[in-house]
Amino acid sequence: MSPAEQLLRELIAIPSVNPAFVPPGHPHAGEQRLATFIAESARKGGLEVEMQSVIDDRQNVIARLTPQGRVTRRIILAPHMDTVPCADDKQLTPEFKGGKLYGRGACDTKGSLAVFLQTMLDLAKADKRPKETEIVLAAMVDEENAQGGSRIFGGTGFQADLAIVGEPTRLRVVTAHKGDIWLRLQTRGKAAHGSRPDLGRNAVLEMAKVVQLLETTYANKLKEKKHPLLGHGTISVGSIWGGNQPNIVPDHCEITADRRTLPGETEKRVLQEIRELLNSQKLRADLLDFKGLDSPPLETKEDNEIIKDLMTEARQHRPAGVDFFCDAAILSQAGITSVVFGPGDIAQAHTSDEWILVRQLNTAGSILRRYFDRQP
Ligand SMILES: [Zn+2]
Repeated sequence: MSPAEQLLRELIAIPSVNPAFVPPGHPHAGEQRLATFIAESARKGGLEVEMQSVIDDRQNVIARLTPQGRVTRRIILAPHMDTVPCADDKQLTPEFKGGKLYGRGACDTKGSLAVFLQTMLDLAKADKRPKETEIVLAAMVDEENAQGGSRIFGGTGFQADLAIVGEPTRLRVVTAHKGDIWLRLQTRGKAAHGSRPDLGRNAVLEMAKVVQLLETTYANKLKEKKHPLLGHGTISVGSIWGGNQPNIVPDHCEITADRRTLPGETEKRVLQEIRELLNSQKLRADLLDFKGLDSPPLETKEDNEIIKDLMTEARQHRPAGVDFFCDAAILSQAGITSVVFGPGDIAQAHTSDEWILVRQLNTAGSILRRYFDRQP
């Protein structure tokens, strides 16, 4: 068994469910046990460790492998420590079957965490390692919910030449992902007795037209604009509620929707285009302020040696894009050039039988070792 696989087994056995997804005091809640384990392992291996407070008692772990000489380059390895809830307690017991290691977090993103940390521990003991490149593990809390970890980390003004954000990309170097805006719309009608609908104005009927418009006309319009790596933006109506009971004409209806954006699309412009579309159809719906978090798209230019080196080692000619949002956009917005890279496939993330191919986990380690061999 490779040291990375051994480490991943240990990480899976330590629950680190994002506290936003389980009741307070739940035995699996929180990243702190895992953070302590990582900090101890890193210290034992000779890395310099610092804990960064994020929210309540939740901390990012920052572990540095500093070269003896002058630092001329800094590369961050940034996986996240939190997971979604376990489907059952069995997901905390790593299980190997048919080349796959099963367990919660196996690919999202304890696989990346294990291989990133192990690579640094191996380099710390190696005769040959970069002379001027500082490697920093930034193990983040809260990626799965509000990205508190990367927002706090980015907010400190940390300077680096590149952040490699660990997510299951099947070992592809990803330079673009979509952004996300949550929308809330409301229609107002006039209540009346159910026997005299002619005296009222039905807010549910009005909203039905809005939903139809968003899911057909608007969705089709989004297909016209394509990004070379990401395809087109999307809209999906996610919830609806309105009215109270059968015998009252409803005077209120509300929906929420999820709009995935392309690089270049801002929240302001998206709201504007939806307003114009509603007006053009004379639909009276209010676009309510949705106090969501800013979740911008990622678009990193790959014309950069430090990224090209990684693509070369990953045997990749062109960068890739993914649909899912992650910490990379947050770090990028904070001024750190960021890409996404890691073992595993997003198709297994969040599933009740999450797994990772052990072969891929080990290949990730080889790619990173060769990549760091190229660094000054
Ligand atoms: Zn996830």
